Amino acid sequence: MQEIKVELAKTRKDKPADAVLGFGKYFTDHMFLMNYGLEQGWHSPRIVPYGPFELDPSSMVLHYAQEIFEGMKAYRTPGGSIQLFRPEENARRMNSSCERMCIPKLDEDLFVEAVRKLAELEADWVPRSEGTSLYIRPFIIATDASLGVHASHTYLFSIICSPVGSYYAEGINPVKIFVESEDVRAVRGGTGFTKCGGNYAGSIRAGERAERQGYSQVLWLDGVERKYIEEVGSMNVMFKVAGKVVTPALTGSVLPGITRKSCIELMRSWGLEVEERLITAQELFDAMENGTLEEAWGTGTAAVISPIGEMGWEDKKRVINGGKIGPVSQRLYDELTGIQWGRIGDPFGWTVKVK
Ligand SMILES: *Cc1c(COP(=O)(O)O)cnc(C)c1O
Repeated sequence: MQEIKVELAKTRKDKPADAVLGFGKYFTDHMFLMNYGLEQGWHSPRIVPYGPFELDPSSMVLHYAQEIFEGMKAYRTPGGSIQLFRPEENARRMNSSCERMCIPKLDEDLFVEAVRKLAELEADWVPRSEGTSLYIRPFIIATDASLGVHASHTYLFSIICSPVGSYYAEGINPVKIFVESEDVRAVRGGTGFTKCGGNYAGSIRAGERAERQGYSQVLWLDGVERKYIEEVGSMNVMFKVAGKVVTPALTGSVLPGITRKSCIELMRSWGLEVEERLITAQELFDAMENGTLEEAWGTGTAAVISPIGEMGWEDKKRVINGGKIGPVSQRLYDELTGIQWGRIGDPFGWTVKVK
């Protein structure tokens, strides 16, 4: 594995108080960089002081969005050590995004070591209050100075870190989601299974519209038949119907979430039946009508588990589980956050120690 050089920042920023952190507003003292060139491949992995990039205005990423990213966290345990959650899964998913977006793949061990080493250097930035963490954002941009539409020959891989507040500072309040019938996020054959910025650019309009109607997230339908449930905003989605858990199958247009995968593994270990299959919006609204929809929740790194208390679709509106968090969502939240923050044992070997 290539050696990661370190250039320390000469001055250090003041750290914000945990109470004002929010999400992605503050950045730490250092960042990771690595370049790609045709001759050298990926080279010069290094940690340097955090600061702006110099980019040619014709850089490919600015025009054709050849860009991918990842999202993960470093957690402070009660004993004061710092740990990551399944970082090798992020490395693997980043390479799957690379493949789809014609970006040269990374050494997955180097990816994990870069994240670990940066988190170790920034350990003081991992906040201490309950539910807070250090959000880690690895990303790759195409840097060729050229307006021709083709795969770039040069890339920049960077990792930045941001201390983030507790998602549930005011307690776990179930969210209202709106089934989007007009805009679509992804289609099979497209880039829905990758974490690429372009997927988000096209999703903003529906999100804004839903917010104006008092909903916090959009529930996407498949792009072809506009019938099947896909995911919510930046989360995968799960439903408990008549004692069984169902979640959309990974058909190519759904992002394969690491929280999703971990939830499925956890629930199966409890003996709960979990089905990954196609689910229509009609099936869900029928289940709400006949009282068999017991719980609904989103899964993702930022919120971990986000219970869904209300769903809107066209002119229909339905409350789920009395608008309260249900027992499976609560247990998933407790066990996953317990493992991530090191409050309970890690029987699956999911955590990786930073220091
Ligand atoms: C990142 C992401 C998720 C959740 O993935 P996790 O690995 O669980 O954080 C779900 N949907 C979309 C569109 C995403 O970008």
